[in-house]
Amino acid sequence: MTNPFDLGGQVAIVTGANTGIGQSIALALAAAGADIAAVGRTPAEETVAKARALGRKAEIVSADLSTIEPVQRVVDETIAKLGRLDILVNNAGIIRRADSVDFTEEDWDAVIDTNLKSVFFLCQAAGRHMIARHEKEGGNGRIINIASMLTFQGGIRVPSYTASKSGIGGLTKLLANEWAAKGVTVNAIAPGYIATNNTTALRADEARNRSILERIPAGRWGDPEDLGGAAVFLASRAAGYVNGHVLAVDGGWLAR
Ligand code: NDP
Repeated sequence: MTNPFDLGGQVAIVTGANTGIGQSIALALAAAGADIAAVGRTPAEETVAKARALGRKAEIVSADLSTIEPVQRVVDETIAKLGRLDILVNNAGIIRRADSVDFTEEDWDAVIDTNLKSVFFLCQAAGRHMIARHEKEGGNGRIINIASMLTFQGGIRVPSYTASKSGIGGLTKLLANEWAAKGVTVNAIAPGYIATNNTTALRADEARNRSILERIPAGRWGDPEDLGGAAVFLASRAAGYVNGHVLAVDGGWLAR
């Protein structure tokens, strides 16, 4: 029996691959055999170097996903540089914090455009390619969207973020429905509290940090590396019948 988690010969796009969760997922996919298109604003030089050190092909694809202007180019450039596209991980995301009574249109649009609009249109561009290839020569596509605990919960002082991540949950299910019979699965990963640049300020606030740690059953912040295995699973042949699922990787947060 061949290893059901082997991603050898496959090509993955990972957005926001220069740091944090995106970098960790890119390197986990590379360790499982995939070649990597590291997409983002800041060139993911370290990620690409580490993926190459694992013996994979890896390329930087520059794109600012605060608009949908680059999404088709991201797909085309990945296929031009790496020869194919099998896996899309929509990881790039931002957060803006303010009380809802004071929340600005700018902070609303910035988060929704990056976290939701670009995610949908990147799914569309990659999905069109994966479906066309499936119809022509078989084979499967895998899309993994990075959601959040706020896909399931309300949160506080992050209205556009909660709307975007809640929207990711719905979109993931809708696309899974539409594309299940077309060779493409669409799932999401909902990280809990993960120690990245995104959460530096939360960890620096002693009282906040303590209350977060008391609430996490695992009793610790997640490490970006905690997300890699879930991404490899959802990208792999092993997850061929897993579709429209939002997989929490949260140290038990939702179980509480
Ligand atoms: P980081 O802030 O460490 O990384 C975010 C990544 O997104 C960076 O690579 C960043 O690139 C990229 N990005 C942001 N805006 C754009 C843009 N306009 N165009 C292209 N790339 C962009 O965050 P995390 O690693 O923590 O977060 C990754 C994902 O995980 C996000 O979707 C986040 O919402 C989600 N998440 C994180 C949690 C956590 O606790 N950390 C919890 C739940 C969900 P650049 O460096 O150039 O800005």
